Parts: sequence; structure tokens; C-alpha cells
Amino acid sequence: MNSFRPRLILFDIDGTLLKGGRRLRRWFGESLQSVYGQAGNIDNHSFSGKTDPQIVTELMQGAGVPEERIFSLLPDLKEVYLGRMREQLTADDMKLLPDVVAVLTKLEEASDVTLGLLTGNWEGGARSKLACFDLNRFFPFGAFGDDRADRSDLPPVALERALQDRGRPFEPRETLIVGDSPRDVACARAHGIRAAAVATGYTSREHLEASGADWVLAELGEAERIHPVFGS
Ligand SMILES: [Mg+2]
Repeated sequence: MNSFRPRLILFDIDGTLLKGGRRLRRWFGESLQSVYGQAGNIDNHSFSGKTDPQIVTELMQGAGVPEERIFSLLPDLKEVYLGRMREQLTADDMKLLPDVVAVLTKLEEASDVTLGLLTGNWEGGARSKLACFDLNRFFPFGAFGDDRADRSDLPPVALERALQDRGRPFEPRETLIVGDSPRDVACARAHGIRAAAVATGYTSREHLEASGADWVLAELGEAERIHPVFGS
């Protein structure tokens, strides 16, 4: 395992690069309220590792909204929520996680490493969050909640985007997914991709170890354990 050197590294956002504060969840709830007339059981719902459309669907199904209505209003919900983020989100609403900029900078300097996103966020939301910390510059492409509602279907999309962006194919065995939840690990394993889980999100280290991650890191700065290319 120590000889593994990733050529393509796909990063999750929430809990991995940054953490959103209460305002983001409040906006999500208010957007649901304005579009669907209710926000469901949002205060007790886990968002971790899920895609945005999946979260909307789960919350609205739980509130008894008919499936057809959930899907027909999804574009409106997306527009309202992303508009709010675009206009109002600032770095004060989130927390940048330790060593993220140092690690990404180091990886970007490695000429044979390609960076991308693999996140359940809609792309507009992902870009708004990353823009607050000037992180979009590291990620020319990604796979997003717009692409698939099930995170486990996102890795092939990310590999295809990597091919388009770099003009060369990337194999699962030379790819690494970095995330903070068992869902990140599961989506990697479903496609024969290695997974590194960071315990900076919403899942305990013990739970991440039980999820089958190839590496469990207390925080991203420990990624040097995977390969020196991560070293800051
Ligand atoms: Mg996450």
C-alpha cells in the first residue's frame, strides 16, 4: 500500500475541505419552505455524504410530498438555494479545515497529479463554498449532485471529466477519493478506487475505520502517510 502514488485525487468538500455553519442549513430549510411549503425534519436529518438532490428527496418524502411533486420542483429549489448562497455566503459562514491549502498547494505543484471534486453538492453550491476560500483554482472539474443523485454513481462521471480535462484516461487503481463519510468510502470501493477518510467531518474515526477506508486520517495534514506527494 505504501507504494501507491495517486495520479488522480478526487476531493469531497463538506467535512473534508471545509465545514458549513448553521446558516447554510437554515438557508436550505428556508429554500425548501419557500418552494415546497415545508422543510420536513431538517433539524434532525443527516446530510453527511449525501447528494443535494438526495437530501431534498429524503426530507420531502419524509414530509409526505408526492414523488412527482418532489422532482418537478427540484429545479426551483436548486435555483432558490444556490441563488442565496451566491449572494450571501461568506467565509464567516464556514470553517476552512486544517492544512487544506498547504496540502492542495503541494499536490498542485506535483506535475503528474490531477485534482478534481467528487461531491454531493450541486456544482453552483460547491463553487460558492470553495470561492469563499479561493479554492476553486485547484479544481478545474468534478462530479456533482447535478450529475447523479446517488453518490455511488459519481466516480465514473469524475473519471470521464478527468479524461476530458487532461486528455488522458485515469484508471480506478491510480485514483484516490478523499472524503469524510462512510458514503465517500463506499462510492470509492464500488468502483475499485482507494479511499482516504478524514475524521474532520461528522463521522468518528472508529466508524470510518469500520467503513473499510484504506486510510483513516485525523486531518488532511496527515495525508503524507499515504504518499510523500501530500507532504506540506
Ligand atoms: Mg463530506
